[in-house]
Amino acid sequence: MIIFFSFPSTQVTAHYRRVMTVIRKVSTIFMLALLILSISSIPVLAAGGNGGSSGSDGAGSGGSGSDGNGGGNAGDSAGNTGNGAGQAGPEGPQAQPLQEEQERKQQETVDQPGVQINQQDRDQDQGRTGVDNATGTTSPDLIRQRDRDTFLQQVSQVEQNLSRDQDRERAQVDVALYALTHTGNLTGNAGPELVRLGTEINTSYAVALQAEQQMKSRSSFIRMLVGGDREAAGLLIQNANQNQQRIQQMEQLLADCSDCDPEVRVILEERVQVLSQEQNRLLTLGRQEQADRGLFGWLFGGSGVLGGTTQAATLPDDEKLWLTYMREEEKLARDVYLSLGSRWNLPVFTNIAKSEQIHMDSVKTLLDRYGIPDPAAGKAQGEFSNQDLQKLHDDLITKGSVSPVEALNAGILIEETDIADLNRAIAATTHNDIKTVYNNLLQGSMNHLNAFESNLARY
Ligand code: MN
Ligand code: MN
Repeated sequence: MIIFFSFPSTQVTAHYRRVMTVIRKVSTIFMLALLILSISSIPVLAAGGNGGSSGSDGAGSGGSGSDGNGGGNAGDSAGNTGNGAGQAGPEGPQAQPLQEEQERKQQETVDQPGVQINQQDRDQDQGRTGVDNATGTTSPDLIRQRDRDTFLQQVSQVEQNLSRDQDRERAQVDVALYALTHTGNLTGNAGPELVRLGTEINTSYAVALQAEQQMKSRSSFIRMLVGGDREAAGLLIQNANQNQQRIQQMEQLLADCSDCDPEVRVILEERVQVLSQEQNRLLTLGRQEQADRGLFGWLFGGSGVLGGTTQAATLPDDEKLWLTYMREEEKLARDVYLSLGSRWNLPVFTNIAKSEQIHMDSVKTLLDRYGIPDPAAGKAQGEFSNQDLQKLHDDLITKGSVSPVEALNAGILIEETDIADLNRAIAATTHNDIKTVYNNLLQGSMNHLNAFESNLARY
């Protein structure tokens, strides 16, 4: 047993020794390698040190002459920490170009329309609070004036170019789309959304025009037999309808845009009307095309060969109630703001009242579309069908007549109530056209809330 154990054990020790020698050799080589590496890296470090010292020399002269180049400067700050003169030397010339660059970058953000939006947000926030915009110094005003001039020049240039080589309607639409999507910071926070909507309208309009072209090229023989190209007409109507919705959103964006340049806003509102008229033209064209049913339609048509296009759709009762309610809730906002606006002579109220009128109108469009009676029909300012709203209106007029602060508080309460109700109404509808309108009203309410709150902050 002992032999049995000792034999392999000696074998193990021998093996162990061999392993140890290998390890020793390997580690020696490793240590040598480290040593070589460290020696070879010393010159690198040493060179850095030398660079530092030579740099410090340079800085010494640079302190007086300030002619040290950039590469030397980095070495200096590491090399001689205690040397006051050496530090003062390198920091001066380095800080100088940096500051210059920052100034140049700021200059650039002012020059580029795209970046400008951020740069001027602050001015716009000030403007939004604005009973008056006199808070800013002249420079933002000058910048805005310059931007406006540039914008107007560009638009008229585009208008000239386009009306040369396109038919008038098409050119007008293109100019309108150009104007609406190239306002830069002149439309403040609404800018990016206008660009998005404008781009969508552009795409959709192209599809509609193609459909129009297809309808025009339909042979008169086929037209006589089977009537209009209903597929193309359907496509055209669909796109024109979508565009009308986008245009409505644009209208509301502009109406609610408290930080828009007033002059530019007026111009854009006119351009939006051009877009709207063109969509109406397309819609009429599409409906005529669908109504054109040819000989076969005349022979076999009689009743509804065409799928109905515009019969009044029906809505579930709760959605009808919401629409009815929202119509008067927007009226409440408008009426209270009109009263308090003239009571305190605060432009923020009269401006927002205009926006509420548009909100009322867009709900009215929906009421008509779904054949729902208008609760505001025949109601004067301050009169409501809904008795809860009547009471709320009267209460708010009483409270808001106490002081401008109370008036602004009334505005805040209205907008907060509006936002809460709109969110519930949005949750209650499954119809996209209604959702779109509610969302626009919601966006408007949030803008209004901001405007009232920042006005209140002045008191
Ligand atoms: Mn509203
Ligand atoms: Mn509002």
